[in-house]
Amino acid sequence: MPLTLYNTLTRRKEAFTPLVPNRVSMYVCGPTVYDFAHIGNARPVIVFDVLYRLLRLEYGADHVKYVRNITDVDDKINARAAERYPDLAPEAAIRKLTEETAAQFHTDIAALGVLEPDVEPRATDHIAEMGKLCDALVQKGHAYVAEGHVLFDVSSMADYGKLSNRSLEEMEAGARVEVAPYKKGAMDFVLWKPSKPGEPAWPSPCGIEGPGRPGWHIECSAMSEKHLGKVFDIHGGGIDLAFPHHENEIAQSRCAHGTPMMAQVWMHNGFLQVEGEKMSKSLGNFITINELLATNKFGSNQWHGRVVRLAMLGTHYRQPIDWTADKLLQARNTLWDIARMMHGNPADKSAPNPEVVAALSDDLNTPKAISILHGLMKSAVRNPDARDEFMATLELLGIYGGESVEDLNPGFEARKVDGARVRTLIAARLDARKRKDFKESDRIRDELSAMGVQLKDAKDPKTGEIVTTWEVRAAGTAEPRS
Ligand code: AMP
Ligand code: ZN
Repeated sequence: MPLTLYNTLTRRKEAFTPLVPNRVSMYVCGPTVYDFAHIGNARPVIVFDVLYRLLRLEYGADHVKYVRNITDVDDKINARAAERYPDLAPEAAIRKLTEETAAQFHTDIAALGVLEPDVEPRATDHIAEMGKLCDALVQKGHAYVAEGHVLFDVSSMADYGKLSNRSLEEMEAGARVEVAPYKKGAMDFVLWKPSKPGEPAWPSPCGIEGPGRPGWHIECSAMSEKHLGKVFDIHGGGIDLAFPHHENEIAQSRCAHGTPMMAQVWMHNGFLQVEGEKMSKSLGNFITINELLATNKFGSNQWHGRVVRLAMLGTHYRQPIDWTADKLLQARNTLWDIARMMHGNPADKSAPNPEVVAALSDDLNTPKAISILHGLMKSAVRNPDARDEFMATLELLGIYGGESVEDLNPGFEARKVDGARVRTLIAARLDARKRKDFKESDRIRDELSAMGVQLKDAKDPKTGEIVTTWEVRAAGTAEPRS
């Protein structure tokens, strides 16, 4: 199946061919670990996991190398570590904080059905490699040393700004930030900077005497080179990273190595908003992955990680996503249907549905893949071959891992709804309505509502009789409908 991917660098969809035949290399910018990851951070993790699964299917698991880094040194990390572990040396303090936070991140994303990347490098394990890049850039005239800093000279690169499609003149004109006096040009960026006492510090490159620490962008140039080579296939991250982070990664890597490109395809996921607003702590709509898995934010019960994943994949990765309770409810209903049908059996190893593979191969069209999946469900119930194919398709999307209806509905045990009692009450309500005792029928509706059961009345077109279906909204049950 030919794979096409939208490339931010060329602003169009392109057929994908690996640089080295039959070997695919992919680098995705991972989290900065100082606190719980939010659900926006979960988006690239899920999106690039689907791409990883698709690439493994196409090229074979051993032929795809996926690197997703951990940023474990930065101002926020340094400040938080100093506050939390004042008795430790700064380097040990950031290590302790970032190890704890990374462990939490791993627990959170494992629940989302995410495969582990092949390599998960940490920035602080690549300080020597970053120093070498700084040395090479200064030697080649692309960087300079000023007041203990190493700065990249953007005017030394003819096509700086190509990824974000801006010219250097435009950027300089728009630069609002106060320009540090030691910079030659307003857009020159930091590769290395001096450390103040109490900040983590390492021996500086480029003959600088005092200790220092790396800038942000240089870490990804160093880690991608070490684990994937000077030029590789796919580089991904959220759209906020296109400028300046990825633009600067390209500048560093290409100028240090004298290569025409850093990665062939640059992919960026759109941003996630919550109920129409930018996620922010002050707006109170800042949701961590952990909270979503464990608490009651949306007035319903907890959400299973696979439900979160399916809800996320309902929107194409390049579109912004508005995260709503409704998306989660819809995803849960779909997964309930799947779980009821599959009886919790793990996937059988057969080939996934070709139409779904084709949809994913078209720049990861997950909404289309999911709609095809809905259509496949019916035949999968009846036909064992279709069922195996369906299972393999679920696995390709990573949306189902053999969970039962109860698993998909955390809190089920604690708040189980008695299905027989619900049915008796519904029958009594219908009786009351026939007698036109609306006071009693409303009372029964309220009683059910208090149990978390929502009713829906519809007229049977053939008999004209009222048929009531029910669904559990707040509490859990294995039998949402009668
Ligand atoms: P950070 O920890 O901020 O470095 O971000 C880790 C990854 O999450 C990066 O690829 C970001 O682009 C991505 N990201 C951060 N916030 C959001 C958001 N609200 N929606 C989608 N992706 C995001
Ligand atoms: Zn990066």
